[in-house]
Amino acid sequence: MADTIAAIATAMTASGIGIIRMSGPESRKIVQKVYRSKGGRKQIEKEPSHTIHYGFIYDGEEEIDEVLVMLMDGPKSYTGEDTVEIDCHGGVLAMKRVLETVIKYGARPAEPGEYTKRAFLNGRIDLSQAEAVIDVINAKNEYALKSSLNQLKGSVQKVIREIRERIIYQIAYIESALDDPEHISIDGYGEALEKEVSVQKSRIERLLETAGEGKMMKEGIKTVIVGKPNAGKSSLMNLLVGEERAIVTDIAGTTRDILEETIVLHGISLRMIDTAGIRDTEDRVEQIGVGRAKEYAKDADLILYVVDSSIPLDENDEEIISMLEDKKAVILLNKTDLETVVSEESLRMRMNHPVIPVSAKEEQGIDVLEKQIKDMFFEGELSFNDEVYITNIRHKTALEDAKKSLELVENSIAMQMPEDFFSIDLMNAYESLGSIIGESVGEDLVNEIFSKFCTGK
Ligand code: GDP
Repeated sequence: MADTIAAIATAMTASGIGIIRMSGPESRKIVQKVYRSKGGRKQIEKEPSHTIHYGFIYDGEEEIDEVLVMLMDGPKSYTGEDTVEIDCHGGVLAMKRVLETVIKYGARPAEPGEYTKRAFLNGRIDLSQAEAVIDVINAKNEYALKSSLNQLKGSVQKVIREIRERIIYQIAYIESALDDPEHISIDGYGEALEKEVSVQKSRIERLLETAGEGKMMKEGIKTVIVGKPNAGKSSLMNLLVGEERAIVTDIAGTTRDILEETIVLHGISLRMIDTAGIRDTEDRVEQIGVGRAKEYAKDADLILYVVDSSIPLDENDEEIISMLEDKKAVILLNKTDLETVVSEESLRMRMNHPVIPVSAKEEQGIDVLEKQIKDMFFEGELSFNDEVYITNIRHKTALEDAKKSLELVENSIAMQMPEDFFSIDLMNAYESLGSIIGESVGEDLVNEIFSKFCTGK
Protein backbone atom coordinates (compact mmCIF):
# COMPACT_ATOMS: atom_id res chain seq x y z
CA MET A 1 0.00 0.00 0.00
CA ALA A 2 2.67 2.41 -1.01
CA ASP A 3 0.55 4.97 -2.78
CA THR A 4 -1.09 8.07 -1.41
CA ILE A 5 -4.74 8.64 -2.12
CA ALA A 6 -6.73 11.85 -2.25
CA ALA A 7 -10.40 12.74 -2.47
CA ILE A 8 -12.93 15.39 -1.62
CA ALA A 9 -14.38 14.22 1.68
CA THR A 10 -17.30 16.62 1.86
CA ALA A 11 -20.38 16.89 -0.35
CA MET A 12 -19.92 18.27 -3.84
CA THR A 13 -22.22 21.22 -3.38
CA ALA A 14 -21.53 24.81 -2.49
CA SER A 15 -20.97 25.02 1.26
CA GLY A 16 -18.93 26.82 3.89
CA ILE A 17 -15.90 24.62 3.74
CA GLY A 18 -14.78 21.67 1.71
CA ILE A 19 -12.30 19.06 2.87
CA ILE A 20 -9.73 17.38 0.66
CA ARG A 21 -8.22 14.40 2.37
CA MET A 22 -4.97 12.63 1.58
CA SER A 23 -3.80 9.38 3.10
CA GLY A 24 -0.58 7.48 2.56
CA PRO A 25 3.18 7.73 3.05
CA GLU A 26 3.64 10.68 0.64
CA SER A 27 0.96 12.88 2.20
CA ARG A 28 3.42 15.20 3.96
CA LYS A 29 5.74 15.44 0.94
CA ILE A 30 2.86 16.30 -1.35
CA VAL A 31 1.44 18.99 0.93
CA GLN A 32 4.91 20.48 1.22
CA LYS A 33 4.92 20.97 -2.56
CA VAL A 34 1.57 22.75 -2.71
CA TYR A 35 1.36 24.64 0.58
CA ARG A 36 2.63 28.14 1.36
CA SER A 37 2.30 29.87 4.69
CA LYS A 38 1.45 33.57 4.87
CA GLY A 39 5.06 34.65 5.15
CA GLY A 40 6.12 31.87 2.80
CA ARG A 41 8.72 30.48 5.16
CA LYS A 42 7.04 27.58 6.92
CA GLN A 43 8.24 24.08 6.06
CA ILE A 44 4.98 22.30 6.69
CA GLU A 45 6.57 18.91 6.12
CA LYS A 46 8.59 19.40 9.29
CA GLU A 47 5.73 20.49 11.52
CA PRO A 48 4.60 18.15 14.31
CA SER A 49 1.68 15.77 13.89
CA HIS A 50 -1.84 16.78 14.90
CA THR A 51 -1.33 20.47 14.21
CA ILE A 52 -3.28 22.90 12.04
CA HIS A 53 -1.70 25.44 9.67
CA TYR A 54 -3.16 28.47 7.98
CA GLY A 55 -1.96 29.22 4.48
CA PHE A 56 -2.52 28.86 0.75
CA ILE A 57 -2.48 26.10 -1.84
CA TYR A 58 -0.35 26.87 -4.88
CA ASP A 59 0.06 25.09 -8.17
CA GLY A 60 3.52 26.36 -9.06
CA GLU A 61 3.08 30.14 -8.99
CA GLU A 62 -0.68 30.06 -9.26
CA GLU A 63 -2.63 30.54 -6.06
CA ILE A 64 -5.50 28.07 -5.81
CA ASP A 65 -7.22 28.75 -2.47
CA GLU A 66 -6.82 29.97 1.08
CA VAL A 67 -6.81 26.96 3.40
CA LEU A 68 -6.26 25.31 6.76
CA VAL A 69 -4.07 22.23 6.66
CA MET A 70 -4.26 19.49 9.27
CA LEU A 71 -1.43 17.05 9.73
CA MET A 72 -2.28 13.68 11.29
CA ASP A 73 0.41 11.07 11.24
CA GLY A 74 -0.35 7.37 11.46
CA PRO A 75 -1.24 5.36 13.37
CA LYS A 76 -3.34 8.05 15.03
CA SER A 77 -5.51 8.83 12.04
CA TYR A 78 -8.71 7.50 10.50
CA THR A 79 -6.86 5.21 8.10
CA GLY A 80 -3.96 4.49 10.41
CA GLU A 81 -1.65 6.08 7.81
CA ASP A 82 -0.14 9.54 7.53
CA THR A 83 -3.05 11.77 6.68
CA VAL A 84 -3.35 15.39 5.61
CA GLU A 85 -6.64 17.22 5.48
CA ILE A 86 -6.97 20.47 3.61
CA ASP A 87 -9.94 22.66 4.54
CA CYS A 88 -10.59 24.93 1.61
CA HIS A 89 -13.54 27.09 0.61
CA GLY A 90 -16.57 24.93 -0.03
CA GLY A 91 -17.14 25.91 -3.61
CA VAL A 92 -17.27 23.01 -6.03
CA LEU A 93 -14.62 24.60 -8.20
CA ALA A 94 -12.28 25.39 -5.29
CA MET A 95 -12.50 21.82 -3.99
CA LYS A 96 -11.89 20.39 -7.44
CA ARG A 97 -8.90 22.62 -8.05
CA VAL A 98 -7.27 21.71 -4.73
CA LEU A 99 -7.87 18.03 -5.42
CA GLU A 100 -6.41 18.32 -8.91
CA THR A 101 -3.37 20.06 -7.51
CA VAL A 102 -2.52 17.38 -4.95
CA ILE A 103 -3.08 14.74 -7.63
CA LYS A 104 -0.74 16.62 -9.95
CA TYR A 105 1.93 16.53 -7.25
CA GLY A 106 1.74 12.82 -6.56
CA ALA A 107 -1.50 11.62 -5.02
CA ARG A 108 -3.90 9.38 -6.86
CA PRO A 109 -7.70 9.66 -6.74
CA ALA A 110 -9.21 7.45 -4.04
CA GLU A 111 -11.81 4.83 -4.85
CA PRO A 112 -15.16 4.84 -3.05
CA GLY A 113 -14.67 3.62 0.50
CA GLU A 114 -10.90 3.41 0.16
CA TYR A 115 -10.16 5.36 3.36
CA THR A 116 -12.33 3.07 5.45
CA LYS A 117 -10.94 0.05 3.63
CA ARG A 118 -7.44 1.15 4.59
CA ALA A 119 -8.59 1.62 8.18
CA PHE A 120 -9.83 -1.97 8.09
CA LEU A 121 -6.74 -3.38 6.36
CA ASN A 122 -4.51 -1.52 8.82
CA GLY A 123 -6.39 -3.13 11.68
CA ARG A 124 -7.80 0.16 12.98
CA ILE A 125 -11.37 -1.14 12.80
CA ASP A 126 -12.99 -4.49 12.08
CA LEU A 127 -15.40 -5.19 9.25
CA SER A 128 -18.55 -4.73 11.31
CA GLN A 129 -17.29 -1.30 12.34
CA ALA A 130 -16.47 -0.41 8.76
CA GLU A 131 -19.99 -1.34 7.74
CA ALA A 132 -21.28 0.78 10.61
CA VAL A 133 -19.56 3.77 9.02
CA ILE A 134 -21.73 3.33 5.91
CA ASP A 135 -24.78 2.99 8.12
CA VAL A 136 -23.97 6.11 10.10
CA ILE A 137 -23.68 8.04 6.84
CA ASN A 138 -26.94 6.61 5.53
CA ALA A 139 -28.91 6.64 8.79
CA LYS A 140 -32.43 7.85 8.14
CA ASN A 141 -33.57 8.21 11.71
CA GLU A 142 -32.31 8.66 15.21
CA TYR A 143 -32.52 4.99 16.22
CA ALA A 144 -30.72 3.78 13.14
CA LEU A 145 -28.01 6.33 13.85
CA LYS A 146 -27.65 5.28 17.48
CA SER A 147 -27.49 1.63 16.62
CA SER A 148 -24.87 2.26 13.91
CA LEU A 149 -22.81 4.36 16.29
CA ASN A 150 -22.92 1.50 18.80
CA GLN A 151 -21.77 -0.90 16.12
CA LEU A 152 -19.05 1.54 15.19
CA LYS A 153 -17.86 1.50 18.77
CA GLY A 154 -17.55 -2.26 18.48
CA SER A 155 -20.74 -3.57 20.10
CA VAL A 156 -21.32 -6.27 17.50
CA GLN A 157 -17.66 -7.15 17.34
CA LYS A 158 -17.52 -7.68 21.10
CA VAL A 159 -20.26 -10.31 21.31
CA ILE A 160 -19.04 -12.08 18.21
CA ARG A 161 -15.52 -12.28 19.57
CA GLU A 162 -16.77 -13.67 22.87
CA ILE A 163 -18.76 -16.42 21.18
CA ARG A 164 -15.85 -17.24 18.89
CA GLU A 165 -13.50 -17.52 21.83
CA ARG A 166 -15.72 -20.09 23.50
CA ILE A 167 -15.92 -22.07 20.28
CA ILE A 168 -12.20 -22.04 19.51
CA TYR A 169 -11.50 -23.18 23.05
CA GLN A 170 -13.61 -26.29 22.44
CA ILE A 171 -11.92 -26.95 19.12
CA ALA A 172 -8.52 -26.63 20.75
CA TYR A 173 -9.57 -28.96 23.53
CA ILE A 174 -10.75 -31.67 21.12
CA GLU A 175 -7.63 -31.35 19.01
CA SER A 176 -5.29 -31.62 21.94
CA ALA A 177 -7.19 -34.53 23.43
CA LEU A 178 -6.97 -36.38 20.16
CA ASP A 179 -3.25 -35.58 19.92
CA ASP A 180 -2.47 -36.52 23.46
CA PRO A 181 -5.06 -39.02 24.67
CA GLU A 182 -2.84 -40.14 27.55
CA HIS A 183 -2.97 -36.80 29.31
CA ILE A 184 -6.23 -35.25 28.19
CA SER A 185 -9.32 -37.32 28.65
CA ILE A 186 -12.24 -36.93 26.36
CA ASP A 187 -14.53 -39.25 28.31
CA GLY A 188 -17.84 -37.64 28.94
CA TYR A 189 -16.75 -34.64 26.91
CA GLY A 190 -19.81 -34.80 24.66
CA GLU A 191 -22.01 -33.79 27.55
CA ALA A 192 -19.89 -30.79 28.48
CA LEU A 193 -19.68 -29.72 24.87
CA GLU A 194 -23.41 -30.04 24.44
CA LYS A 195 -23.96 -27.56 27.26
CA GLU A 196 -21.46 -25.09 25.87
CA VAL A 197 -22.87 -25.35 22.35
CA SER A 198 -26.35 -24.77 23.64
CA VAL A 199 -25.28 -21.64 25.50
CA GLN A 200 -23.52 -20.17 22.48
CA LYS A 201 -26.38 -21.15 20.20
CA SER A 202 -28.86 -19.26 22.33
CA ARG A 203 -26.62 -16.19 22.30
CA ILE A 204 -26.68 -16.35 18.52
CA GLU A 205 -30.43 -16.81 18.58
CA ARG A 206 -30.81 -13.74 20.75
CA LEU A 207 -28.82 -11.72 18.26
CA LEU A 208 -30.94 -13.08 15.43
CA GLU A 209 -34.09 -12.07 17.29
CA THR A 210 -32.97 -8.44 17.18
CA ALA A 211 -32.53 -8.60 13.42
CA GLY A 212 -36.23 -8.00 12.70
CA GLU A 213 -36.28 -4.88 14.81
CA GLY A 214 -32.84 -3.98 13.58
CA LYS A 215 -34.00 -4.10 9.99
CA MET A 216 -37.03 -1.97 10.74
CA MET A 217 -34.88 0.43 12.67
CA LYS A 218 -32.55 0.82 9.75
CA GLU A 219 -34.91 0.63 6.81
CA GLY A 220 -38.18 1.66 8.35
CA ILE A 221 -41.46 -0.12 9.01
CA LYS A 222 -43.14 -1.06 5.77
CA THR A 223 -46.58 0.43 6.12
CA VAL A 224 -49.68 0.20 3.96
CA ILE A 225 -52.86 2.22 4.33
CA VAL A 226 -56.03 0.34 3.40
CA GLY A 227 -59.69 1.22 3.53
CA LYS A 228 -62.64 1.59 1.21
CA PRO A 229 -62.80 4.50 -1.22
CA ASN A 230 -63.34 7.85 0.44
CA ALA A 231 -62.54 6.60 3.92
CA GLY A 232 -59.82 9.25 4.09
CA LYS A 233 -56.66 7.33 3.18
CA SER A 234 -55.12 10.08 1.07
CA SER A 235 -55.98 12.70 3.62
CA LEU A 236 -54.31 10.71 6.41
CA MET A 237 -51.33 9.90 4.27
CA ASN A 238 -50.84 13.57 3.47
CA LEU A 239 -51.23 14.49 7.07
CA LEU A 240 -48.62 11.96 8.16
CA VAL A 241 -46.24 12.87 5.41
CA GLY A 242 -46.86 16.54 6.05
CA GLU A 243 -43.88 18.74 5.60
CA GLU A 244 -41.57 15.78 5.57
CA ARG A 245 -42.21 14.86 1.99
CA ALA A 246 -38.48 14.61 1.67
CA ILE A 247 -37.51 11.10 0.81
CA VAL A 248 -39.38 9.72 -2.16
CA THR A 249 -38.34 6.43 -3.65
CA ASP A 250 -39.58 4.88 -6.84
CA ILE A 251 -39.79 1.14 -6.73
CA ALA A 252 -39.03 -0.12 -10.17
CA GLY A 253 -40.04 -3.49 -11.52
CA THR A 254 -43.70 -3.23 -10.72
CA THR A 255 -46.39 -2.82 -13.33
CA ARG A 256 -46.52 0.84 -12.42
CA ASP A 257 -44.41 2.98 -10.24
CA ILE A 258 -45.50 2.92 -6.66
CA LEU A 259 -44.68 5.90 -4.58
CA GLU A 260 -43.02 5.13 -1.35
CA GLU A 261 -42.46 7.87 1.16
CA THR A 262 -40.42 7.62 4.27
CA ILE A 263 -41.66 9.55 7.25
CA VAL A 264 -40.02 9.73 10.63
CA LEU A 265 -42.18 9.63 13.75
CA HIS A 266 -40.35 10.09 17.03
CA GLY A 267 -37.20 8.72 15.51
CA ILE A 268 -38.83 5.71 13.84
CA SER A 269 -39.08 5.54 10.07
CA LEU A 270 -42.27 4.42 8.40
CA ARG A 271 -41.96 3.48 4.76
CA MET A 272 -45.41 4.34 3.56
CA ILE A 273 -46.56 2.66 0.40
CA ASP A 274 -48.85 5.15 -1.20
CA THR A 275 -51.58 2.84 -2.43
CA ALA A 276 -53.98 5.71 -2.11
CA GLY A 277 -52.29 7.36 -5.03
CA ILE A 278 -52.52 4.39 -7.33
CA ARG A 279 -55.16 4.38 -10.00
CA ASP A 280 -56.43 1.49 -12.04
CA THR A 281 -54.48 0.71 -15.22
CA GLU A 282 -57.44 1.05 -17.54
CA ASP A 283 -57.71 4.68 -16.85
CA ARG A 284 -60.78 4.30 -14.75
CA VAL A 285 -60.29 7.08 -12.34
CA GLU A 286 -61.11 5.12 -9.28
CA GLN A 287 -59.36 4.23 -6.10
CA ILE A 288 -57.29 1.15 -5.77
CA GLY A 289 -59.54 -1.84 -5.19
CA VAL A 290 -59.41 -3.74 -1.97
CA GLY A 291 -58.00 -6.65 -3.97
CA ARG A 292 -54.85 -4.77 -4.89
CA ALA A 293 -54.43 -3.35 -1.42
CA LYS A 294 -54.42 -6.93 -0.20
CA GLU A 295 -51.36 -7.67 -2.29
CA TYR A 296 -49.41 -4.84 -0.72
CA ALA A 297 -50.68 -5.70 2.70
CA LYS A 298 -49.30 -9.22 2.40
CA ASP A 299 -45.71 -8.30 3.05
CA ALA A 300 -46.23 -5.14 5.02
CA ASP A 301 -44.95 -4.86 8.57
CA LEU A 302 -47.89 -2.68 9.52
CA ILE A 303 -51.35 -2.04 8.12
CA LEU A 304 -53.24 1.13 8.86
CA TYR A 305 -56.90 0.39 8.25
CA VAL A 306 -58.96 3.53 7.78
CA VAL A 307 -62.66 3.26 8.64
CA ASP A 308 -65.12 5.97 7.72
CA SER A 309 -67.02 6.38 10.96
CA SER A 310 -69.77 8.43 9.36
CA ILE A 311 -71.21 5.60 7.28
CA PRO A 312 -71.91 1.94 8.11
CA LEU A 313 -69.37 -0.74 7.31
CA ASP A 314 -69.87 -2.30 3.88
CA GLU A 315 -68.60 -5.40 2.06
CA ASN A 316 -65.24 -3.70 1.39
CA ASP A 317 -64.77 -3.30 5.11
CA GLU A 318 -65.76 -6.90 5.71
CA GLU A 319 -63.15 -8.07 3.25
CA ILE A 320 -60.44 -5.95 4.85
CA ILE A 321 -61.40 -7.07 8.34
CA SER A 322 -61.03 -10.70 7.33
CA MET A 323 -57.54 -10.14 5.95
CA LEU A 324 -56.29 -8.37 9.04
CA GLU A 325 -56.56 -11.36 11.30
CA ASP A 326 -52.95 -12.33 11.71
CA LYS A 327 -51.38 -9.02 10.81
CA LYS A 328 -49.98 -6.15 12.78
CA ALA A 329 -52.58 -3.47 12.27
CA VAL A 330 -53.98 -0.29 13.71
CA ILE A 331 -57.57 0.71 13.00
CA LEU A 332 -58.05 4.39 12.42
CA LEU A 333 -61.64 5.41 12.99
CA ASN A 334 -61.67 8.49 10.79
CA LYS A 335 -64.03 11.43 10.38
CA THR A 336 -64.84 11.56 14.06
CA ASP A 337 -65.57 15.25 13.57
CA LEU A 338 -68.80 14.14 11.85
CA GLU A 339 -71.73 12.32 13.36
CA THR A 340 -70.54 8.76 13.81
CA VAL A 341 -72.44 5.58 13.05
CA VAL A 342 -69.54 3.19 13.62
CA SER A 343 -68.38 3.09 17.23
CA GLU A 344 -64.98 2.31 18.66
CA GLU A 345 -66.48 -0.45 20.78
CA SER A 346 -68.10 -2.20 17.84
CA LEU A 347 -64.73 -2.37 16.09
CA ARG A 348 -62.89 -3.49 19.20
CA MET A 349 -65.35 -6.32 19.58
CA ARG A 350 -64.74 -7.52 16.07
CA MET A 351 -60.97 -7.20 15.88
CA ASN A 352 -58.03 -7.78 18.08
CA HIS A 353 -56.26 -4.60 17.01
CA PRO A 354 -55.97 -1.20 18.63
CA VAL A 355 -58.62 1.27 17.50
CA ILE A 356 -57.78 4.97 17.43
CA PRO A 357 -60.37 7.67 16.74
CA VAL A 358 -58.91 10.27 14.39
CA SER A 359 -59.95 13.10 12.16
CA ALA A 360 -57.80 13.77 9.14
CA LYS A 361 -59.75 16.95 8.58
CA GLU A 362 -59.15 18.37 12.02
CA GLU A 363 -55.76 16.72 12.42
CA GLN A 364 -56.82 14.86 15.54
CA GLY A 365 -55.42 11.63 16.92
CA ILE A 366 -52.13 11.51 15.05
CA ASP A 367 -50.02 11.72 18.20
CA VAL A 368 -51.90 8.74 19.66
CA LEU A 369 -51.16 6.81 16.48
CA GLU A 370 -47.47 7.64 16.71
CA LYS A 371 -47.28 6.42 20.28
CA GLN A 372 -49.17 3.27 19.37
CA ILE A 373 -46.73 2.42 16.59
CA LYS A 374 -43.79 2.91 18.86
CA ASP A 375 -45.33 0.63 21.49
CA MET A 376 -46.13 -2.04 18.94
CA PHE A 377 -42.73 -2.25 17.35
CA PHE A 378 -40.25 -1.19 19.91
CA GLU A 379 -42.11 -1.75 23.16
CA GLY A 380 -42.10 1.92 23.92
CA GLU A 381 -38.58 3.09 24.40
CA LEU A 382 -35.61 1.49 22.79
CA SER A 383 -32.74 1.01 25.12
CA PHE A 384 -29.29 1.09 23.69
CA ASN A 385 -27.35 0.51 26.84
CA ASP A 386 -26.62 -3.16 26.50
CA GLU A 387 -28.70 -4.53 23.68
CA VAL A 388 -26.82 -5.17 20.48
CA TYR A 389 -28.96 -4.89 17.37
CA ILE A 390 -28.18 -6.76 14.21
CA THR A 391 -29.06 -4.35 11.42
CA ASN A 392 -26.95 -5.78 8.65
CA ILE A 393 -28.31 -8.54 6.43
CA ARG A 394 -24.82 -9.96 5.88
CA HIS A 395 -24.37 -10.34 9.61
CA LYS A 396 -27.76 -11.98 9.89
CA THR A 397 -26.92 -14.57 7.25
CA ALA A 398 -23.58 -15.33 8.89
CA LEU A 399 -25.28 -15.78 12.26
CA GLU A 400 -27.79 -18.15 10.70
CA ASP A 401 -24.97 -20.18 9.19
CA ALA A 402 -23.18 -20.33 12.52
CA LYS A 403 -26.37 -21.47 14.21
CA LYS A 404 -26.82 -24.26 11.64
CA SER A 405 -23.27 -25.45 12.20
CA LEU A 406 -23.83 -25.56 15.95
CA GLU A 407 -26.98 -27.58 15.38
CA LEU A 408 -24.93 -30.07 13.41
CA VAL A 409 -22.57 -30.33 16.37
CA GLU A 410 -25.55 -31.07 18.59
CA ASN A 411 -26.68 -33.78 16.19
CA SER A 412 -23.24 -35.36 16.10
CA ILE A 413 -23.13 -35.40 19.89
CA ALA A 414 -26.59 -36.97 20.06
CA MET A 415 -25.54 -39.63 17.55
CA GLN A 416 -22.33 -40.26 19.47
CA MET A 417 -20.15 -39.59 16.48
CA PRO A 418 -16.38 -39.53 16.90
CA GLU A 419 -15.00 -36.27 18.31
CA ASP A 420 -13.30 -35.05 15.16
CA PHE A 421 -16.75 -34.68 13.65
CA PHE A 422 -17.47 -32.04 16.27
CA SER A 423 -14.53 -29.93 15.38
CA ILE A 424 -15.39 -29.66 11.68
CA ASP A 425 -18.76 -28.06 12.42
CA LEU A 426 -17.39 -26.03 15.30
CA MET A 427 -14.81 -24.68 12.90
CA ASN A 428 -17.51 -23.77 10.39
CA ALA A 429 -19.41 -21.88 13.07
CA TYR A 430 -16.19 -20.14 14.06
CA GLU A 431 -15.56 -19.06 10.48
CA SER A 432 -19.10 -17.88 9.81
CA LEU A 433 -18.89 -15.68 12.89
CA GLY A 434 -15.46 -14.52 11.79
CA SER A 435 -16.85 -13.28 8.51
CA ILE A 436 -18.91 -10.71 10.43
CA ILE A 437 -15.87 -9.00 11.83
CA GLY A 438 -13.74 -9.55 8.76
CA GLU A 439 -11.64 -12.46 9.89
CA SER A 440 -11.49 -15.18 7.29
CA VAL A 441 -13.28 -13.18 4.63
CA GLY A 442 -12.22 -13.25 1.01
CA GLU A 443 -10.89 -10.25 -0.85
CA ASP A 444 -13.96 -10.20 -3.09
CA LEU A 445 -16.26 -9.66 -0.18
CA VAL A 446 -14.06 -6.92 1.22
CA ASN A 447 -14.11 -5.12 -2.15
CA GLU A 448 -17.85 -5.56 -2.42
CA ILE A 449 -18.45 -4.04 1.00
CA PHE A 450 -16.24 -1.02 0.47
CA SER A 451 -17.62 -0.28 -2.97
CA LYS A 452 -20.85 0.80 -1.25
CA PHE A 453 -19.10 3.82 0.22
CA CYS A 454 -18.96 7.22 -1.33
CA THR A 455 -15.64 8.58 -2.49
CA GLY A 456 -13.76 10.36 0.24
CA LYS A 457 -14.81 8.06 3.05
P1 GDP B 1 -59.53 8.03 0.20
O1 GDP B 1 -60.37 7.73 -0.98
O2 GDP B 1 -59.66 6.96 1.23
O3 GDP B 1 -58.10 8.33 -0.12
O4 GDP B 1 -60.18 9.32 0.88
P2 GDP B 1 -59.76 10.86 0.75
O5 GDP B 1 -58.62 11.13 1.64
O6 GDP B 1 -59.64 11.23 -0.67
O7 GDP B 1 -61.00 11.52 1.42
C1 GDP B 1 -62.31 11.36 0.88
C2 GDP B 1 -63.17 12.56 1.33
O8 GDP B 1 -63.35 12.55 2.74
C3 GDP B 1 -62.54 13.89 1.01
O9 GDP B 1 -63.56 14.77 0.58
C4 GDP B 1 -61.97 14.35 2.33
O10 GDP B 1 -61.91 15.73 2.44
C5 GDP B 1 -62.93 13.76 3.31
N1 GDP B 1 -62.32 13.48 4.62
C6 GDP B 1 -61.17 12.79 4.85
N2 GDP B 1 -60.92 12.73 6.18
C7 GDP B 1 -61.92 13.41 6.78
C8 GDP B 1 -62.22 13.72 8.15
O11 GDP B 1 -61.53 13.36 9.10
N3 GDP B 1 -63.37 14.43 8.38
C9 GDP B 1 -64.17 14.86 7.38
N4 GDP B 1 -65.25 15.55 7.72
N5 GDP B 1 -63.90 14.61 6.10
C10 GDP B 1 -62.81 13.89 5.78
